[in-house]
Amino acid sequence: MEKGTLFVVSAPSGCGKGTILRPILEASDRIYYSVSATTRQPRSEDVDGVTYRFMTKEGFEALISENGFFEYAKYCDNYYGTPKAPVFEHLENGDDVILEIETQGAFNIKKEMPEAVLIFILPPSLKELRRRLEKRGSENSEVIDKRMSEAAREISLAKDYDYVIINDGIEEAIEDFKTVCRIARLKNNTENIINEVLNNA
Ligand code: 5GP
Repeated sequence: MEKGTLFVVSAPSGCGKGTILRPILEASDRIYYSVSATTRQPRSEDVDGVTYRFMTKEGFEALISENGFFEYAKYCDNYYGTPKAPVFEHLENGDDVILEIETQGAFNIKKEMPEAVLIFILPPSLKELRRRLEKRGSENSEVIDKRMSEAAREISLAKDYDYVIINDGIEEAIEDFKTVCRIARLKNNTENIINEVLNNA
């Protein structure tokens, strides 16, 4: 059976990742969205077990030592990690998997799995990103400043991703994302596609 494709999506918070991914996830039940574990405090829009699995630092570190994470990283003083088992179960079942993670985790995965497809979503500008974060109103100015400097650092790493998509208009960004997914699936499946033709003599 064809294995699924692993998509690793990064974007500084406020770039509209969620808005781009939502219709794509809703349109197919063959795409598994990996729910990360984190030690950060839940925000008002968070739902435990849906947006993140919220854990204590001790619980997270225990899972690290049990080798329970595919990857994990520290970001803005908190741990974030991808639980390992569900990712591999879904890929083996032929489902595509989407991870929404920061750059350090993305590059670690690319080293381990070169066939993973790295996609970076860019804001139209840093100025617009700050405006979106301030409008969200969920963090104080100190946290926003910290996230802005993280964003600038991460954007400078986007050149090493397989694809960058600019979120300057949501409809176009969604179309770009779908196009990238389609191309990546075709590329990952060339062998299966050829064999199907050859075996159908
Ligand atoms: P936020 O606190 O805004 O939800 O997420 C902060 C950053 O952590 C985002 O860039 C997000 O993509 C990243 N992140 C979320 N889950 C994971 C994960 O499991 N692993 C890694 N490496 N980063 C994650």
